[in-house]
Amino acid sequence: MTRKFTGSTLLVATHNAGKLEEITDLLQPYGIEVVGAKQMNLPEPEETGTTFVENARLKAHAAAQATGLPALSDDSGIAIDALDGAPGVYTADWAETGSGRDFVMAMQKAHQALLDSGAAEPWTARFCCTLVLAWPDGHDEVFPGVMEGRVVWPMRGDQGHGYDPIFQPDGHDVTFAEMERFAKNRISHRADAFTKLVQGCFA
Ligand code: IMP
Repeated sequence: MTRKFTGSTLLVATHNAGKLEEITDLLQPYGIEVVGAKQMNLPEPEETGTTFVENARLKAHAAAQATGLPALSDDSGIAIDALDGAPGVYTADWAETGSGRDFVMAMQKAHQALLDSGAAEPWTARFCCTLVLAWPDGHDEVFPGVMEGRVVWPMRGDQGHGYDPIFQPDGHDVTFAEMERFAKNRISHRADAFTKLVQGCFA
């Protein structure tokens, strides 16, 4: 039996504006007030885990402890089969420039690694998302989500965020970045995890 969320304000433990926007969209039907980690002046905890679950738990618990509010975190990334699952939990790190994040550079890096690997197309891959809802008393609930697809090149589309321009989900001939925002948010790895979160904690 999962614990239910009974409050009216949910802290979303992310500093990523794209993720916050997506999660706010997804939570909109439930009439819950959403606040982001930046709004609450929370520090960005170091992601020292080696799995999506470890990193998501780390972020959710740090935010719940710091604020006394239930906190929802998302740890996500893209796992490319021909690169043995890389960048995986290091998806954001591949975009790190030292003075910010450059996702065009990260996508070029992924493409170059695929060329170097000599792997033939299709370059199968999946976006993974783990959502963790943590309470200030230390309890948490964990919900994984996935979207299968492939890496395509060149980049296509200008919607969304992160690696969206090079990810084409199965069953579609457009990339995430070519989809209208609500269409992506209905089918994404985050939507998959979200459906489980809603059934577990909000229904
Ligand atoms: P995290 O903050 O460590 O979870 O980083 C996740 C990384 O995966 C970030 O670089 C995101 O841009 C990328 N990512 C996660 N979900 C998506 C998505 O839906 N579209 C594009 N990139 C994503």
